Amino acid sequence: MASNGKRVRGRFAPTPSGRLHLGNALTALLAWLQIRSAGGEIVLRLEDLDRQRCKPELAALLPEELKWLGLDWDEGPDVGGPHAPYEQSKRTAQYERILDELLRQGRLYPCYCSRADLMAAASAPHGLDAEGPAYPGTCRTLTAAERAERALRKTPSLRFAMDERATYRFADGIAGETAFSGAGGGDFVVRRADGIVAYQLAVVADDIEMEITDVLRGWDLLDSTPRQLALYEALGSPPPRFAHSPLLLGADGSRLSKRHGAVSLSELRERFGVRSERIVGFLAWLAGLRDRIEELKPADLVASFDLAAVRSPSATLPDAWIDLLTGKDKGLNF
Ligand code: GLU
Repeated sequence: MASNGKRVRGRFAPTPSGRLHLGNALTALLAWLQIRSAGGEIVLRLEDLDRQRCKPELAALLPEELKWLGLDWDEGPDVGGPHAPYEQSKRTAQYERILDELLRQGRLYPCYCSRADLMAAASAPHGLDAEGPAYPGTCRTLTAAERAERALRKTPSLRFAMDERATYRFADGIAGETAFSGAGGGDFVVRRADGIVAYQLAVVADDIEMEITDVLRGWDLLDSTPRQLALYEALGSPPPRFAHSPLLLGADGSRLSKRHGAVSLSELRERFGVRSERIVGFLAWLAGLRDRIEELKPADLVASFDLAAVRSPSATLPDAWIDLLTGKDKGLNF
C-alpha cells in the first residue's frame, strides 16, 4: 500500500518494434524492483499501436526475454487480468471514448499540416527530443470555413491544445524536482491522420484504466511527461508518480546503439553465452545499486532496493563491457 491507501501498481510497457536491449532491460529491472520492493503489482502491456513498426514475433518474444531476466508480472497478455486486453492494438474503443471526451471539452483540434509544413517550422529552437521541432500552432486558430476548405484536400490529425501559460511540475523519482513550461513542446498529436492513436493519449488512457500508481520508464520520455500531465488534468485523474531511468551510453558518450556491439539481450545470450544473472548483476552495478559486478537474480536486489541510489541521468558502459559481462575481465576491483 502507498501512503494514500492505494495499492502500488507499476507496469512494463515495451513496444514490440525491436529486440530488448540493455537499456530496456535496465528500465524493466528498475521498474520491477520499485514495485516488488513496495509489495505492489506489475502489469505487462504491449504498446503495439503502430502496426507497421511492430512485429507479432517480437510481441511473442518480449515476455520471454523479460522472464529470462528473472522478471515477472501479475497481469498481462499471457496471464490475463481485470484490465484485459493488455495489447494496445486491441484497446481502440477505450481510446476513442477518451478522444470523444476531449473533443467535447474543446481541447482537441484538427491539424491539416503536412510533413513538409512541419519541417518548414523546424527552425524553431525547442521541441521534444523524441518528436522533433515544436508545433507552431498553425491549425489551432483556423476558422470553420478554413477547416472545411482544408478538409477537402486532407484527412486531419487531431492535436491537443496545451496551455502555454501553465508550468508542469513533478517530483521525478530519479531526476528529482522537474518543471516544464506548457509552451515548450507545442500542441501534440493524439490521433494521427491515418487514424492511429498516438502514444501520449494511449499511455495515459491505459495508465488511468489500469490504476497505475508508479511509472518508471526510460529517460527519453522525461519530456513527454508535461504532455501526459496535461492529459491527466483534462481527464480529471490524479497522475501517477514518475521516475525516468538512466540512459545507457557507450564509452564514447553517445547513446547506446548497435554501433557499440552486441546490445540486444538475445545477441548477448546467443553469441556470447552470457547468463541472465550476469546481465542483472552488471545492470545493478551500472545503475549504482551494487559496487561490484556479481551474478544476481532480480529477487536478490529487492530487500535493499532504494530508488534514491539511482540518481544519474545516464550510465556509461566501460570499453571492455563485453569482457566484463562474459566474466573474462576480472579487473574491476573495488
Ligand atoms: N512504449 C514505450 C517504449 O517502449 C514506453 C512508454 C512508457 O513507458 O510510457 O519506449
